[in-house]
Amino acid sequence: MPPGGVERNTQGRGCEKRQDRQTVVAVTEETNGKKGQAGRRKLPPEKSEQEGHIWGSMQNTAFILGSGLLLSVAFWNSLTWHLQRFWGASGYFWQAQWERLLWKFEGKEWILFIIGAALVPVLLFWAFNGLLLVVDTTGKPNFISRYRIQLGKNEPVDSVKLRQSIRTVLFNQCTISLPVVVFLYPFLKRWGDPCRRELPTLHWFLLELALFTLTEEVLFYYSHRLLHHPTFYKKIHKKHHEWTAPIGVISLYAHPIEYVASNMLPATVGPLVMGSHLSSITVWFSLALIITSISHCGYHLPFLPSPEFHDYHHLKFNQCYGVLGVLDHLHGTDTVFKQTKAYERHVLLLGFTPLSESIPDSPKKME
Ligand SMILES: [Zn+2]
Ligand SMILES: [Zn+2]
Repeated sequence: MPPGGVERNTQGRGCEKRQDRQTVVAVTEETNGKKGQAGRRKLPPEKSEQEGHIWGSMQNTAFILGSGLLLSVAFWNSLTWHLQRFWGASGYFWQAQWERLLWKFEGKEWILFIIGAALVPVLLFWAFNGLLLVVDTTGKPNFISRYRIQLGKNEPVDSVKLRQSIRTVLFNQCTISLPVVVFLYPFLKRWGDPCRRELPTLHWFLLELALFTLTEEVLFYYSHRLLHHPTFYKKIHKKHHEWTAPIGVISLYAHPIEYVASNMLPATVGPLVMGSHLSSITVWFSLALIITSISHCGYHLPFLPSPEFHDYHHLKFNQCYGVLGVLDHLHGTDTVFKQTKAYERHVLLLGFTPLSESIPDSPKKME
């Protein structure tokens, strides 16, 4: 999902290294209630100006997200009405399949919940990453490896580092994800029973997906920026950044604290708040895992979301903190990225010529 691509160069004057510090100052001290427009005015100390800027950006963010939400609601009914017509009778088909499952797991719905919320997404994650790992370790088929973003990196991938990373990912999934899902079930059952008989309508399901995506963008962006504060970076987030040229499985290669706060939480809060049906949870968790794998995979493949944004984050550390790029645009944390070839390549590839060939690097390496 590429960002809107609207140019905005208000901030970036080589002070990116300070941005980490700014975020935390803003997050921890914003309760002081500095005036919202301070970012535009000159406040005496440099620190206050930076706080003002971030606070102002956050207000702009809330305004733009709010307006976007209102506009979406305005168009929602007509859009989903067409989709519902297109969907037609298949809604009944899925309802029948779900009822069959419920009948099979009657009295043991918690098993159904674990299968839907953990097993299916995790198996899809490993199926997808299994294919990518074949390319990473063998460099074949060439049809895929020619789409590599960071040329010359991971050719082939360091097998010792890879084995150790896979072990960490499995550890995170088995000892964190699984217990959290088991623990969540009784709570969710009281809140809105995820295994209720009626499946959500297509309208509702799409609305939920949009809300989950927005929630994830906000929570991931701010938790991720916080993790880049020197206090947290060294002990927690550095692990994830050991891979300056990431590969798919690295998406879940993280310190346990980061795994909970920045990977699981942003994806789980949406379904929790909405009291979502298991079907929505399964689709959302699976989508989230596949998309994060794509954004780390290191190949800009045709007809898939562009991974350039997060790949650039791994390369440069202090740019592109979010998922969609909306908050990076509003906070000015993508200004350096926007001056690069990677930004020009940050599009949905609709042909078969690799973007590294159609938009080659300049002879002089750009910063
Ligand atoms: Zn990453
Ligand atoms: Zn990071």
